[in-house]
Amino acid sequence: MKNTLDKFNRPVRDLRISVTDRCNFRCTYCMPKEVYGESFKFLPRKELLDFNEIERIAQTFAKLGVNKIRITGGEPLVRKIIEELIQKLSNISGIEDIAMTTNGYLLESKLDSLKQSGLNRITVSLDSIDSKTFKKMSGQNFEVEKVLSAIKSANDKGFKNLKINCVVQKNVNEHSILDLLDYFRDSGNIVRFIEYMDVGNLNGWELKDVISIKEILEIIESKYKVKKLNENYQGEVAKRYILEDYSAEFGFISSVSQPFCSTCTRARITMDGKLVTCLFANSGIDLRKPIREGCSSEELDQIIKDVWIKRKDQYSEIRHELTKSNYKKIEMFQIGG
Ligand code: SF4
Repeated sequence: MKNTLDKFNRPVRDLRISVTDRCNFRCTYCMPKEVYGESFKFLPRKELLDFNEIERIAQTFAKLGVNKIRITGGEPLVRKIIEELIQKLSNISGIEDIAMTTNGYLLESKLDSLKQSGLNRITVSLDSIDSKTFKKMSGQNFEVEKVLSAIKSANDKGFKNLKINCVVQKNVNEHSILDLLDYFRDSGNIVRFIEYMDVGNLNGWELKDVISIKEILEIIESKYKVKKLNENYQGEVAKRYILEDYSAEFGFISSVSQPFCSTCTRARITMDGKLVTCLFANSGIDLRKPIREGCSSEELDQIIKDVWIKRKDQYSEIRHELTKSNYKKIEMFQIGG
C-alpha cells in the first residue's frame, strides 16, 4: 500500500483534515460575511466526523504512506477538545508530524494542552499587522495584538519557527509585506506570502487582483538583500528565501504564477468525511457513509486507495481552462486550505 501512486506518479504523503466548517473570522477571500452572516446554518454536530472516524481514516492514509497530518477547518480551535484528536493521531504508527493551521485568535490559552497532546507545528494565518487592514481582511472587529501575543507565547512555549501565512491581495494589503518581514525578521518565525487564489466560489477572484511572487519579491528587494534557498524536500509547497542581513527565512506559495501540481502529494478530508484530492476540487468521495455503515478497515483501505490511484488533479496548471467553464468548487473552509 505504501507506494500507491496517482495517475501522475505522485505518492500521498500529506493529509489535511478539516475538523469543522465553523470559524470565528470572516476572511473576505474565504468566508465573506455577506454570505456567512448570523443566520447562516453550519453543519450540525452529528454530521461532522467524530474523532474515532477521523482516526480510522488517518490510519488508512498512514498505511498508504502519509507521514504528515495538518489539522485545519474553518478554525480548528473552535472544535471542542481538539487535543483529544491530536493525541489519537500522534499514536498512529507512521505519522511523524502533526501541524495545525489556525488564525491564532484562540491560540494563547490552548498552547500548553496542544503541546501536551503531541502537536508539533503551528501555522498562523495573518494577512496584516496593522489593525485597520487586519479587521478589514478578517471581517471582524478583533485586535491583531491578540494574535501577535499568541505567536510570541507559542515561541516561548517551545513552538519554534511558526509559519506565518499571509494572502496578498492587490490594493488591499501589499503594504503589509514589508511590515510583516520587519516585525518577524528577528523571531525565527517564517513569513510566507501566498498569491491570492480563486478558492471556492464566493471571493470574486480575478487575475488582476493577484500580486505575483515576482512582484512581491521586487517589493521586498526594495528594502532587503535576499537569497533563494533550496527546498527542504521534494514537493514542498513553499519557495524558500532568506533575508541575508538577518538570516531570516521567508517564503512564497505561488499557485497562480508558478503552479506546483506536478509534485502535489496532498489529500484532504472535509469536516463531514469527504475525501478530496485537490484544493480546487468540485467534489469528493464520501467516507462517512461506509464508515457509519460498518465497513471493515480493509474495505476502507480499498476505497481510499482506489480514489488515489485514479487521481489526476492539476487545477493550478489548467486554471484558465476551468475558470472559463462553470466549474463549481468546494468552499475552502470546508477543506481547510
Ligand atoms: S491545485 Fe490541486 S493538484 Fe495542484 S497543487 Fe494545488 S491541491 Fe495540488
